[in-house]
Amino acid sequence: MEYRHYIGNTPVMPETGATLDVIDPSTGEAFAAIARGDAHDIERAVAAAQYAMGDALDGPWSRLSPVERSDLLFAYADAVARHADELAQLEARDTGKARKTARSDAAVLVRYLRYYAGCVDKLHGETLPYTTGFTVLTVREPIGVTGHIIPWNYPMQIFGRSVGASLAAGNACVVKPAEDASLSILRLAEIAAEAGLPAGAVNVVTGLGSEAGAALSAHPGIRHISFTGSTVTGALVAQAAAARHCPVVLELGGKSPQLVFDDADLDAALPVILNAIVQNAGQTCSAGSRLLVQRGVYEQVIERLSERFSAMRAGPPSMDLDMGPLVNAKQHARVRAFVEAAEAEGIRVAARGRIAAEASHDGFYQPAVLFRDVPPDSRLAQEEVFGPVLAAMPFDTEADAVRLANGTEYGLVAGVWTQDASRGLRLARKLQAGQVFINNYGAGGGVELPFGGVKSSGHGREKGFEALFGFTNLKTVAIRHG
Ligand code: NAD
Repeated sequence: MEYRHYIGNTPVMPETGATLDVIDPSTGEAFAAIARGDAHDIERAVAAAQYAMGDALDGPWSRLSPVERSDLLFAYADAVARHADELAQLEARDTGKARKTARSDAAVLVRYLRYYAGCVDKLHGETLPYTTGFTVLTVREPIGVTGHIIPWNYPMQIFGRSVGASLAAGNACVVKPAEDASLSILRLAEIAAEAGLPAGAVNVVTGLGSEAGAALSAHPGIRHISFTGSTVTGALVAQAAAARHCPVVLELGGKSPQLVFDDADLDAALPVILNAIVQNAGQTCSAGSRLLVQRGVYEQVIERLSERFSAMRAGPPSMDLDMGPLVNAKQHARVRAFVEAAEAEGIRVAARGRIAAEASHDGFYQPAVLFRDVPPDSRLAQEEVFGPVLAAMPFDTEADAVRLANGTEYGLVAGVWTQDASRGLRLARKLQAGQVFINNYGAGGGVELPFGGVKSSGHGREKGFEALFGFTNLKTVAIRHG
């Protein structure tokens, strides 16, 4: 099977004719090919999106009234819901994630599209007090053509939250999915056309980040970029955008801490702590990858979590076990290198999960690993592993916990487990993170909840109503009427 770009509601051959193999992570074998896009293909996609917008918001997409746009987005959400199983199977095969995870991702995607479809006719400006004899108002206008660079960990969800919000704000989109996870995104562009979105509203160019991705970041016709991925690539995208003053939302991952105090309800906390690191085989930007536990319950937490980690099994998506393989050979080697280096440094493994006997030896499987007594300044405690690897360490006082929690370059999400409500609220204010969860933890969840980072986890917010503001220009209109 050979997939083409999807531009202007049509499959389009890459200008060079070049392709990239699509590898099944559960076997390591190629099963399809995608187009290897370059600057020419990006040019065509931007032109298609510009046509949909028109020169003065008079294109087939931008001239629709808010109600018409909302109706079309609801129709799109319904069409995606009808294809949810197909999309989930496609994404599970492409990325290796368990089918149940892919089905849940498809359901969240539908939820994003419905949420943003419902926002279209509620996005409005204000009237402002000003000098006597004036009426001043603000209007929220589309930005134009927006670029969306999507990673391989949650392609459908990230498409929903960024493309959904941008379309709702009236923009047309050019999407560059990850080279390891393009199939569901290509299908989503086709479904948009089937649902009646005009040509050019949703365009997808596949290919390598250094080629198609870099061309998208640098294209002068792109008026806003939404990027999710690594800190290094995020900086490259932001530099390219800065050269032409293009706004960028960067969502760059983290080393998110979960803080467990002596008074925590461990029966409630432990399953959530486990899920927050093994979900999607740990390839989640908001994974709870550091576990800080107060000394009084430290041994108990390690013992009880160790039982759970030992029971974790990784296997192919069709087996629907706790985890699938990692997404590709590079990620597999990277995570294994982290684990081996930590062991070589003498950091103790408290427990390790298993790989199912049925799993292919050529698949990219990594068992879940719980490390204990991890030194706070070690690489394992500081760097994003992006695999099912949890770094546990003890703390004594609340002040120590805050210092450890804030002691990395990242600041995406934090979880606090305590029955002391005052402490929960106090820590919510002290922790450097874009989201703080008290007695729960929402790795990736919450369509309605603004999401994004501080420090090296990025800037700007996606999800919720807040995201829509970033996809609009605010215009002030001052009228002197005497
Ligand atoms: P990456 O950041 O390089 O890739 C993410 C997206 O950016 C992909 O679509 C890729 O094609 C594109 N891209 C790559 N180079 C580009 C460039 N020069 N210009 C424009 N776009 C470009 O991530 P990766 O190499 O696939 O993964 C490496 C690490 O990144 C992982 O181990 C993990 O730590 C992190 N990561 C984080 C997230 C997240 O959700 N925050 C997602 C994926 C990866």
